[in-house]
Amino acid sequence: MKKLTSIIMTGLLLAACGQQQKEADFQYEVDRFADVQILRYKVNNFDQLSLNQKMLVYYLSQAALEGRDILFDQNHKNNLSIRRLLEAVYVNYTGDKTAADFEAMTTYLKQVWMGNGIHHHYSEDKFKPGFSEDFLRTAVQGIDSTQLPLATGESVDSFIARVFPVIFDPALYPKRTNQENDVDLVLSSANNFYEGVSQAEVEAFYQGMANPNDPRPVPYGLNSKVVKRDGKIQEIKWKVGGMYSEAIIRIVGWLHKAAEVAENESQKKVISTLIDYYETGNLETYDKYSIFWLQDLNSQVDFVNGFTETYTDPLGMKATWESIVNFKDVEATKRTTIISDNAQWFEDNSPTDKQYKKEEVRGVTAKVITVAMLGGDCYPATPIGINLPNSNWIRAEHGSKSVTIENITEAYNQASSGSGFREEFMVSKEEIERAVNYGALTDNLHTDLHECLGHGSGKLLPGVSPDALKAYGSPIEEARADLFGLYYVADPKLVELGLLPDMEAYKTQYYSYLMNGLMTQLTRIQPGKNIEQAHMRNRQLIASWVYEKGKDDKVVELKKVNGKTFVVVNDYEKLRGLFGELLKEIQRIKSTGDFEAAKQMVETYAVKVNQEIHTEVLDRYAKLNIAPYKGFVNPVYTLVKAEDGSIADVQVTYDENYVDQHLRYSREYSVLPSMN
Ligand code: ZN
Repeated sequence: MKKLTSIIMTGLLLAACGQQQKEADFQYEVDRFADVQILRYKVNNFDQLSLNQKMLVYYLSQAALEGRDILFDQNHKNNLSIRRLLEAVYVNYTGDKTAADFEAMTTYLKQVWMGNGIHHHYSEDKFKPGFSEDFLRTAVQGIDSTQLPLATGESVDSFIARVFPVIFDPALYPKRTNQENDVDLVLSSANNFYEGVSQAEVEAFYQGMANPNDPRPVPYGLNSKVVKRDGKIQEIKWKVGGMYSEAIIRIVGWLHKAAEVAENESQKKVISTLIDYYETGNLETYDKYSIFWLQDLNSQVDFVNGFTETYTDPLGMKATWESIVNFKDVEATKRTTIISDNAQWFEDNSPTDKQYKKEEVRGVTAKVITVAMLGGDCYPATPIGINLPNSNWIRAEHGSKSVTIENITEAYNQASSGSGFREEFMVSKEEIERAVNYGALTDNLHTDLHECLGHGSGKLLPGVSPDALKAYGSPIEEARADLFGLYYVADPKLVELGLLPDMEAYKTQYYSYLMNGLMTQLTRIQPGKNIEQAHMRNRQLIASWVYEKGKDDKVVELKKVNGKTFVVVNDYEKLRGLFGELLKEIQRIKSTGDFEAAKQMVETYAVKVNQEIHTEVLDRYAKLNIAPYKGFVNPVYTLVKAEDGSIADVQVTYDENYVDQHLRYSREYSVLPSMN
C-alpha cells in the first residue's frame, strides 16, 4: 500500500526556513505541461554511502528502469505502440516543429510519459489529443517506416488503422480502471490484465482456485494476465519465459550484479529469492521473498522491485510493476523508531472494538528513507510513503515494513512555497500560521502513523476473506490507515514521546485534512465527474462523514466569507472524537468483511461531488496557476572507473530534463515487443 500526496502539499507546507537558503542553487522545477509540474528530487547524503553501497544503488537502479515497458503494456495493450509512434514522430519529424499541431503532440507525448500510457495516472481518463488526425497521419507517412513500431508483417496503413482510433476516438477505452457501480468492471476497464473474459468469468476462475480454509493463501492472480484460449480460461504468467520475459530477463541480470555487492547475507537472500520468483512465477516463492524482505532490517540500502500494488485492477488482484531504490535516513529514522517501539500501546488504546484488535502487534518496522531511483508505477508520479507487503497473513504473522519518503516531500515543499494556496483557501491568519509552524512536522508524522501503524493495525475475523470488500476494499483500507493517523496525531502521547512540541500542532493536520477532503482535492476532478481514485475517495469519505455527523454540534462548518467558501473547525476535540468513531466503524467493516456496509459508506460519502463547491474551487484554484499533479525526473548515476578498470566511484548528477530522460529510457531500457 502506498500513501500518495494530497493536494494540500502543493501549496501548504514550508520546510524549515534555513533549508530554503541552502537549497537555492538546486533547481526543483524541470518542466510544466497540461495539469502537471515535473520536479527533481535530491539524493541527500549519497556521498556518505560506501562504494559498495553506491554500486548496489546503481545496479538496483538499472533494475528499476528495466521494468518501465511492462507497466506501459499493463496499462493498455496499445500503449507501447502509441508511445513509440509518438517518439518516432517527435524525433524524426521534418516539418515545422513550432507549429501548433506539433506542440500539441509534444504535450500529449509528455502526458503519455507521465501516465505510463494513454490514460491519466490519477483520474484514469483517456487523454484528449490537441492535434488533428490528419496532422499525425501526414507526419507518420513522412518518416521512414523502419522507425515505426510496426507489428510483424504489419503495413503502415494497417498500423494506422489499429492505433489511430485508440488515440482519437473518445468512446474507445475511455477509462483505464473503471470503478463505477453495477457495470462489468473487467470489460469496461482499458487495462491489459484480462482479455476476452467477463468479470463473472474471472471471479469464478479465482474462486475455484483459492481454498477458503487456507490460513496462508498466496496472492492469487497477482502476476498474470487472464485470457480465454480455445474456450478455456487461463493465466499467462509474467515471468522469465512467460509474458514480459525480455524485460524480466534484464531485471534479473541487474539483480544478479546487485546480489554480488549486497550489504550482508540477509539482503543477498532477499535478492536471490526475488530472482527465483521472477524465474518461476511461483507465488509461494513471492511470499517467501516478502518475508525475507521485511525481515531485512540491518541493510541501509533497500528496494522494492516487482508486481506490487493492485490499485489499477478493478478487482484488486493484478499488480502493476514498480520499483523504488532507497537508503535509510539514519537521523530522521529515530522518529519512526519511537513510533514502532510503541506500536502495541497504540493498538491497545485505539477506539476500535477489542475483538478486531491485534493481541500482539508484530514487527512493525518503520524508517525514513531517501529515494535514489523511481521506476514503473512509482515514476514519474510517486508516493510519499509505502507499507509492504500487502498480504494479510504475512502482515499478521511477520509484520510489515513501512517507509516515509522524506526527500520527495522536501521537493514538493520547496517547489510550492509561496504559491498563495493557503492564503486563498485557509479561513484565518491563525490557521495559516499554524500551518507554517507545524504543517511539515505533522504531515510527516501523519504519514508515519498511516504507514507504520494504520495499515498494520487490526485483524480480520477468522474466515473473512481479505478480498471480501472487492472494489471498495482500497478506499476502506486507506480510510482505516488515515483515521488511525488522524486519531493519534491529536493524542497527548505524541507530546509525551517528544514527537510533537505541544497540543496545538495537531490542529493544522485536522484543518488541512478537512479542507482538502471537502474542497481543495476537487481541483483534481474535471467538472461533472465523480471521484474514482481510492485515496481521494477515502479522503472525501472521512471529511464528509465527520462534517455530516458533527452538523448538529457545528463541529465543522462550511462558511461563506466575501462570497468564498471556507472550512471552519469550531471544536477540535469533538472532531477527534468523530474521527475515533469512524475509525471504529471502518475497522468493523474491514474485520468482518461487511461488503454492504462498505458499499453504503463509499457510495454515500466518497464518490459524488458537490457541484457548487467544485465549480467555486476550480475557479479560485485556476487563478493561482498551480499544477495540481506533480511528477519527477530521476537523477543520473554514472560509474567512475579507476585506471585499472575497476569501479572507483558512482557519480550522481541532476541535469537531465524530462524529455531527454524519457527518450533515453525508451532507447536504453526498452526491449519488449510493441504488442504482448
Ligand atoms: Zn495507505
